[in-house]
Amino acid sequence: MICGHASFSKTARFSDLVASVQHCDLCPRLCAKRKVLSQANGNIQSKVLFIAEAPGRLGADRTGVPLHGDRSGDNFEALLGNVGWRRNQVFITNAVLCNPQDEDGTNGTPTFEEIANCSAYLEMTISLIQPDVVVTLGATALDALSIILPHGLILRDAVARLTPWCGRQLFPLYHPAPRATVHRSLAKQRSDFMLLAKAVHPESGMPRKTRDRPAKHPLLPSPALSSLQHAVRALLELGGRMTYFKLTKLLYLVDLAAIERLGRMVAGEVYLRQVDGPWPPRLNQALKEMDGFEVRRFSMRRLPMVELGPSPRGDVKLGDDVLQIIVDVYAGYGKMSNEQIKTAVYRTGPMRYVLQQERCGKDMRNKALLYRNRTIDLLVGETE
Ligand code: SF4
Repeated sequence: MICGHASFSKTARFSDLVASVQHCDLCPRLCAKRKVLSQANGNIQSKVLFIAEAPGRLGADRTGVPLHGDRSGDNFEALLGNVGWRRNQVFITNAVLCNPQDEDGTNGTPTFEEIANCSAYLEMTISLIQPDVVVTLGATALDALSIILPHGLILRDAVARLTPWCGRQLFPLYHPAPRATVHRSLAKQRSDFMLLAKAVHPESGMPRKTRDRPAKHPLLPSPALSSLQHAVRALLELGGRMTYFKLTKLLYLVDLAAIERLGRMVAGEVYLRQVDGPWPPRLNQALKEMDGFEVRRFSMRRLPMVELGPSPRGDVKLGDDVLQIIVDVYAGYGKMSNEQIKTAVYRTGPMRYVLQQERCGKDMRNKALLYRNRTIDLLVGETE
């Protein structure tokens, strides 16, 4: 009875999710397209959830069945069949549920904003299906999971390996699209699927002893992180990932707010006037020391990015008053674009002072905007 009720409830919740998706108009470019989420996505009781990139123009957008009807679908079905799995034993969805068609009518790539919009549905789908293993197909699907909970994985390094993520296992694979076989041949993809089938059964899941085994992490020494490093960690815990540029501005705003509220700085020791505004010179070294542990550095569209790393050592150690400042600063500025946060920073007292001096012809490059719990206007007053 209880099982029957639970199962009915899962079916009903899935129907509710499907119905709510059909009304979604979050992405102006995509919302008129077919939203590929229905009973045709597969078995909601499955222990294996596949996530691909987006419905294809000749595939799911036409058939309503994810990874079906085009050459990617043919490859995927062949890979499944090779390990003796059937489509109705697994659940398949996409990072975005609508086909991102380019102006010339070909399959386009979903933008970061579109993937972020649809990540709420992806998160709901995962929490409804409750798979033992989430299998991402391609880098876009893998990156989409980072929006839900940062994992710090890169496809080429993490491919075909189980990694704990969000209370379950993540198994990143390459996309079965013909163009992806340049990076990973179909023969290699067939052996990846064999590894997957060895690790998990689509209906009975992972063997309990495997599922419950703690992740194999080397015992990492817990280094004494500086207050700057703890502040970086706290900001990344809130934001997941951000540009290096935004991180420098958020740190400046945190320290400026800390001087006002607490009378002291809490993250950096000095912020210098650079071309794009305040910059803490110790940040690069701080990030380097945390790289691969608390943070991961990478580039996206040529912009240096920072995100929460895969193996944080220890907890964030900051007082409640400091954490509150970081939370408040992130709430006020964290969602701004680079341009917006730059404007906000240029309106702060120290930057207004610097700009005024520069208008009078003074060279303010590399002058300290904040230093030893003082702002530049006070620092100059003390030395004059
Ligand atoms: S891609 Fe997702 S978020 Fe965007 S319109 Fe379609 S269903 Fe909505």
